[in-house]
Amino acid sequence: MRTIPTIIICFSILGNIFAQNSDGSLKISHLNGDFYIFTSYNYYKGNRISANGMYLLTSNGVIMFDSPWDTTQFQPLLDSIKVRHNKSVIMCIATHFHEDRTGGLEYYKQQGIKTYTTKQTDELSKKRSMKRAEFLIDKDTVFKIEQYSFQTFFPGQGHAPDNIVIWFEKERILYAGCLIKSVEDSNLGNLADANIKEYATTIKNVQEKCKRPKYIITGHDDWTSTKSLKHTLKMAKKLK
Ligand SMILES: [Zn+2]
Repeated sequence: MRTIPTIIICFSILGNIFAQNSDGSLKISHLNGDFYIFTSYNYYKGNRISANGMYLLTSNGVIMFDSPWDTTQFQPLLDSIKVRHNKSVIMCIATHFHEDRTGGLEYYKQQGIKTYTTKQTDELSKKRSMKRAEFLIDKDTVFKIEQYSFQTFFPGQGHAPDNIVIWFEKERILYAGCLIKSVEDSNLGNLADANIKEYATTIKNVQEKCKRPKYIITGHDDWTSTKSLKHTLKMAKKLK
């Protein structure tokens, strides 16, 4: 007699997750192998804008890169990952201090997830009352987690004073965050905290470090083109 309530509970959990996905508030796309892109939405200057993050499945658990922008999607993302892959998120790294990257850090810390930013990001988060991580990265760092290895890289100031990118050298995946704009974007977006003088040099530093990326994940909009680096450099050169 125990099985009936269990089945009903399972259905209601699945029903919730599918509803949250199908209403368009959270989208998960397969990138390649164990890599997935999640997209949530929020409003900027009255326009509904997408924000992309990434997660990676390892045999130890799931590594998340940035948090959803939409605060209602922090838990649904964890639930969706659990249902799809039967794995829990163990770590989350945010790539600069803006809320589309750091928004979920405190929530995830409360869920027992190890949260990370650079020291530089933490100083800005503190100053600007953004959510802060539990663990701080001092300098560019190589993380080795089970079969995967990736590097955090600060290429200089651009979109924000603290923007880092994440480079998977073996897979040639460049998780670029908001520093790199989508080929869909006709401008560099929010420049409120940008370094207009350095932006182009910073992009060149990314090109120098991250050679021939197969994938470049931009912070917003379409991420399927690898022309986004060149496209961003072109726009950054016009800033000066
Ligand atoms: Zn952004």
